[in-house]
Amino acid sequence: MKFSGFKVVKEALTGHKGWAPLWRNPAPKAEYDIVIVGGGGHGLATAFYLAKTFGELKVAVVEKGWIGSGNAGRNTTIIRSNYLLPGNQPFYELSMKLWENLEQETNFNSMVSQRGIINLIHTDGQRDAYRRRGNAMMISGAGARLLSRDEVKQMLPFLNFDNARFPIKGGLMQPRAGTARHDGVVWGYARGADARGVDIIQNCEVTGFRIENGKVLGVETSRGFIGAKKVGVSVAGSSGRVMAKAGMRLPIESHVLQAFVSEGLKPTIPGVITFGAGHFYVSQSDKGGLVFGGDIDGYNSYAQRGNLPVVEDVVEGGMALMPMIGRARLLRGWGGLVDMSMDGSPIIDKTGIEGLYFNGAWNYGGFKATPAAGYCFAHLLATDHPHEVATAFRFDRFERGYVIDEKGVGAQPNLH
Ligand SMILES: Cc1cc2nc3c(=O)[nH]c(=O)nc-3n(C[C@H](O)[C@H](O)[C@H](O)COP(=O)(O)OP(=O)(O)OC[C@H]3O[C@@H](n4cnc5c(N)ncnc54)[C@H](O)[C@@H]3O)c2cc1C
Repeated sequence: MKFSGFKVVKEALTGHKGWAPLWRNPAPKAEYDIVIVGGGGHGLATAFYLAKTFGELKVAVVEKGWIGSGNAGRNTTIIRSNYLLPGNQPFYELSMKLWENLEQETNFNSMVSQRGIINLIHTDGQRDAYRRRGNAMMISGAGARLLSRDEVKQMLPFLNFDNARFPIKGGLMQPRAGTARHDGVVWGYARGADARGVDIIQNCEVTGFRIENGKVLGVETSRGFIGAKKVGVSVAGSSGRVMAKAGMRLPIESHVLQAFVSEGLKPTIPGVITFGAGHFYVSQSDKGGLVFGGDIDGYNSYAQRGNLPVVEDVVEGGMALMPMIGRARLLRGWGGLVDMSMDGSPIIDKTGIEGLYFNGAWNYGGFKATPAAGYCFAHLLATDHPHEVATAFRFDRFERGYVIDEKGVGAQPNLH
């Protein structure tokens, strides 16, 4: 089924009886060429690009709940490519380019909205660091603008410019950054993958791997054994637990990250804003809710709900930055499980087990990576070679000391 303005008008006038389900609900087959574990944005994007770009493969996505029930459906939807380090910048820029064409590619309205991001500057040292980052972004084609205090004031007059403790001295803007509708991304990729023959198998938990003589033969699931020549694991916050079933211990800690949304307000915030003197970021949804978040919960957890001290910390950040947020009523808060690595950067790599591949360690920021992570993981699964923009995302970087520490905080997963 193709979507078009004409189809929407026709269905509106004929009682919406002509819409077909977006994807099938197939039973698992005995064997596939490639099984992807995890039906989040990354797993579905991987299946989509495998089917679209790498040809005649039999592919299944196996998801323990419903697709998008993990982080893909819980994040704050920010997309950006404002990175500094050479290991990261080309990868996130590829992702941004894929975002820019996503709706055409999937023929699905994922509400990609390039409304810009502004990282606020509060000290002279921070301005120097952001100027350096901005230069790296310009060189890579990501685009950047250094804003003066007056320019920020003109664009965001509601911020607290009189705050003596955290004075706003300017901002670094990436005009091409923005937001996308997270569910829409999942559904667009799912629909596109299904249309190209991928089996999306929901309510099917992977409970183990069948491995013989160092080679993976398939996955044990709650719906029986599924054979596979290759298995790609893309389970985000569950990475540690799932890979432990293959006997692997990962350089990853799982933490809860919370997000919040206020009641709907009139359009106030033009793009995404990040506080530079604490951890707080905010944007406004198309329905009017202020969508915001901050730090992860400090200790390791697999519970998909957060704790009150972080709620207080996030709201304090919001109040310091824009006191008017104190007048908005909080509508909802929720938590998701983020897979924090030791250097804050991801892993897209083969494992020591033949036929078993891993995509994970996306920390705070894997939503914006969804298209490129899917594309690069599909490339690795299909060709056995890393894509050129993902060559740094290897397991052995921790052995070799070639860490990609974008934030420069060292081996402290909760600080990245
Ligand atoms: C509150 C919050 C806000 C965030 N905000 C942003 C943001 O603004 N911008 C940004 O770039 N990133 C953000 N992120 C991070 C981003 O959401 C994730 O990095 C990204 O979604 C992870 O990839 P995914 O979509 O594939 O993960 P998920 O959607 O979590 O997919 C993994 C899937 O694997 C499934 N699974 C787990 N175990 C098994 C098993 N044994 N068998 C089968 N299936 C299994 C899960 O059910 C899940 O559906 C945020 C995350 C959170 C929690």
